[in-house]
Amino acid sequence: SAEEAAAKAAAHLADTEPATIFDKIVSKEIPANVIYEDDEALAFRDISPQAPVHFLVIPKKRNGLTRLSKATPEHKALLGHLLYVAQLVAMKENLGEGFRVCINDGPNGCQSVYHLHLHVMGGRQLTWPPG
Ligand code: C5P
Repeated sequence: SAEEAAAKAAAHLADTEPATIFDKIVSKEIPANVIYEDDEALAFRDISPQAPVHFLVIPKKRNGLTRLSKATPEHKALLGHLLYVAQLVAMKENLGEGFRVCINDGPNGCQSVYHLHLHVMGGRQLTWPPG
């Protein structure tokens, strides 16, 4: 059932924060436009794109990574993998002219979903600095 899937998705969360909407995307409880998937990572198109191409790369298991600032040495390999997947999918999306990878952390970083995610944006000339 959907409830069992949600419980399974939440079971690995190693911290006290509640499961997020991204856990429901991982468990397929809610739909997403998935463009890449492997054992550890999932990439899907952002529902509110800020560029012609805008997708998110997330760890399937949040495993304590509600936000980047919660990273421990145990997360290093996963963090490297997520960055690797970001460029892999960016190339698949024809972003060879360039793109941006961004992680929003906490209130000042405008983070809204507390399940680590990399934003990958491209397909137009981006400006710097961001707001
Ligand atoms: O970095 P921040 O936490 O603000 O980003 C969350 C992102 O997740 C937003 O860009 C939002 O559009 C996206 N989102 C999504 N699908 C959902 C919920 C949020 O793509 N179901």
